Amino acid sequence: MRRTLSMLFLVSSMGLAMNTRAQDAPEPPQAGRTALVIHGGAGFVPRESLGDDDLRDIHATLDQALDAGNAVLADGGAALDAVQAAIRVLEESPRFNAGKGAVFNAVGGHELDASLMEGHTRRAGAVAGVSTVRSPILLARAVMEHSPHVMMAGAGAEAFADTRPEIERVENSWFDTEHRRRALEKARQASTGSADDDAPAYFGTVGAVALDRQGHIAAGTSTGGMTNKRFGRVGDAPVIGAGTWADAGCGVSGTGWGEYYIRNAVAHDICARVAYRGDRLVDAAEEVVNRIVTTAGGDGGAIALDRDGNIAMPFNTGSMFRGWIRPDGSRGTAIHEAD
Ligand code: ASP
Repeated sequence: MRRTLSMLFLVSSMGLAMNTRAQDAPEPPQAGRTALVIHGGAGFVPRESLGDDDLRDIHATLDQALDAGNAVLADGGAALDAVQAAIRVLEESPRFNAGKGAVFNAVGGHELDASLMEGHTRRAGAVAGVSTVRSPILLARAVMEHSPHVMMAGAGAEAFADTRPEIERVENSWFDTEHRRRALEKARQASTGSADDDAPAYFGTVGAVALDRQGHIAAGTSTGGMTNKRFGRVGDAPVIGAGTWADAGCGVSGTGWGEYYIRNAVAHDICARVAYRGDRLVDAAEEVVNRIVTTAGGDGGAIALDRDGNIAMPFNTGSMFRGWIRPDGSRGTAIHEAD
């Protein structure tokens, strides 16, 4: 009897151990196969609104971001560094709603949010509502590496930035761009019902997810939030599990109507489906973005990557700036569905 019980115990603890292993320490992927996926935001950018120069510039900037991230990966570097490198390029481009080119809030200023996460260590860093930090993703990284915290916000995050010499500071007006100012005007008119048409729902957040040679995954997101947002509003981008998530087997960066991404824990939900239910990444991402978010009344997109280098890029907004490099080296950039 005793023997039977201890056998039972042994078998069930083996089961437990296998379960734990399945979730926390998945089989390593094929060594050396890296992958990278980036986005420059979901939104509706009508094809006819983009001239040849715009198209060239958008694709070239996405390519530069891919190159920056891929240079890290090709060198055997960490997924986290690749994510940061790709996002830095997009933050510096006025085309995208992150860093330079961030949207205006309702009081005519800029408040920026960012986060990043490393899957196999579950380390994460985030900042919300910062207004003088040129690269919010770098500050999120500093929070992760040089503070005991995961997220810092507003004046406290700025004070923390004061202690970090590598964090470049700028006047809030440095983020201004003419096209974002026009978008604010349109959004204000739309909210008072005096606009001819609805303000376009440009989102434009940026994000990246990478798989490195060690089989580690990281994800990050950086944004100015939503045009005409209330002063103090924080979206999903800095919320770990909503706009950004990475675990041992999967990583996600979201873009879209942030309130819905927070309420539905979008980034985490995609990876949880892969980890707990064994869903294919593409099915999990599709289901969460194109059914759960939309059924709730929101919209947007996401990029996702699993440990085998599979990539998913669902969106339901008409367009999503995006780019990818698959494990076989094939790469591309795209804006609309049919691209
Ligand atoms: N998700 C962002 C937010 O709600 C906006 C975006 O994706 O562009 O702040």
